[in-house]
Amino acid sequence: MQLEEIRGLIRDVPDFPKPGIIFKDITPLLLHQAALARTIELMAERVADDVDVIVAPEARGFIFGVALALATKRGFVPIRKPGKLPYETNSVTYDLEYGQDTVHMHVDGLAKGQKALLVDDVLATGGTMGACAQLVQACGAEVHGCLFFMELTFLNGRDRLADFRLDTLIEE
Ligand code: AMP
Repeated sequence: MQLEEIRGLIRDVPDFPKPGIIFKDITPLLLHQAALARTIELMAERVADDVDVIVAPEARGFIFGVALALATKRGFVPIRKPGKLPYETNSVTYDLEYGQDTVHMHVDGLAKGQKALLVDDVLATGGTMGACAQLVQACGAEVHGCLFFMELTFLNGRDRLADFRLDTLIEE
């Protein structure tokens, strides 16, 4: 299966969740068994040998993150919104276009010196991934890189993540 077929399974939903945003809906892709399997295979090829663990933020990051962890035989560490993780956490608050958001990770999510690959579905402004990277570093672990299914290049999220190795399957 070609990347163009995978691209064709991403549905643009205008004005969701608010006016002016074109939401990249991956549910048609998730439903298509062969396309989903190929997507994970292609992303797994981009996981370097020296990556120790996969880390991803909820919610769609979990879909790609866990699948990649299984495909590449790594463990998985979840990053969650406030009030969801049961044990002691580190947190990072970051700015959104309007307001702020906070992400949490367990304090023992990663061991010192571990190399983490951060995974998410869409790179938009890079704010979420920047905060996730800080959580990895708060454990004394290392950000090996960030891997996205899709990058919205016109939002220049890469600039915000200039310190890290970035890789994306599909650019738009
Ligand atoms: P950002 O922090 O701006 O890079 O936004 C990234 C997060 O928001 C990711 O977890 C995405 O799932 C989600 N996101 C942002 N923009 C979109 C979009 N246009 N379509 C789908 N998801 C998006």
